[in-house]
Amino acid sequence: MSHSPQSSKFLNMRLLSLALCGLTGGLAIATPIAQANRLETFVYDLNDSKIEFSLKNDIEPKGSVISNPTRIVIDLPGIVYQGPTIKRRIGRGVESLRVGQVDANTTRMVVELSPDVKLNPQDLRLKSKQPGHWTMQLPQNIAAIDLNSVSNFVIPIAGAVISSGFGWRVHPVTGEKKLHKGVDFAAPTGTPIFASSDGVVTDAGWTDGGYGNIVELRHANGEVTLYAHANKVYVSKGQSVNKGQAIAEVGTTGRSTGPHLHFEIQPDGKNAVDPMDYLQLHQVTLDLASNSFKD
Ligand SMILES: [Zn+2]
Repeated sequence: MSHSPQSSKFLNMRLLSLALCGLTGGLAIATPIAQANRLETFVYDLNDSKIEFSLKNDIEPKGSVISNPTRIVIDLPGIVYQGPTIKRRIGRGVESLRVGQVDANTTRMVVELSPDVKLNPQDLRLKSKQPGHWTMQLPQNIAAIDLNSVSNFVIPIAGAVISSGFGWRVHPVTGEKKLHKGVDFAAPTGTPIFASSDGVVTDAGWTDGGYGNIVELRHANGEVTLYAHANKVYVSKGQSVNKGQAIAEVGTTGRSTGPHLHFEIQPDGKNAVDPMDYLQLHQVTLDLASNSFKD
């Protein structure tokens, strides 16, 4: 029993924990509030099977692998995470990111990986090429889990930056707890919005419910995709569109505080689910600094 593969895995994890904790040497000094550092972005890059994150100011994070072989925990002393703990679904290889405070001076990032990922904890290293930018190489099979999954839907915008995810949240204006039925991609006004898959336009133009200008598409198996807050709509009801065709451009129409695309997928044509479970991914950036677009 003591020589099983399982126990050598646990030994490896302990070694990693020591190696990464050694990076900071326990010399973290509390940052004055006026200079409070913060997380800016988290990137899941499937082309290179890596994760990256950036901070407003440079700091040396420490990380450790805990609990099981598919969870990476990175503690960031001196980082203040403003706002409630978030959990963002990302995809199928890297499943989610959770970010929150563990104490007054430390932000913790928890990266949950697919149970199918074979992690060798000893290979996990945080590296920094430029101040405030950190990267960690992940096993190559992570990207394969996403890239080999069957999905007819592509991310409907170039350089996807997610400012808000699917799920229950407290509305920043009304204070109500409300289901956010899609993913918000932040982008400048005028950025093209692409059809996520081949389909037919079932609605296009102004709506009164807070979504502003929308495009709604129905796809081959009855799935519906919805694109909201558009500045301009390029298509009209009844028109057929191809995957990747520009159908609208990003705006901030309806109930919205900044230019972004609100994107929904309804697999049964009625009920919205987390689009991150359905999209083909190559690179996704989470904006951890703003998190403020509404609906
Ligand atoms: Zn939204």
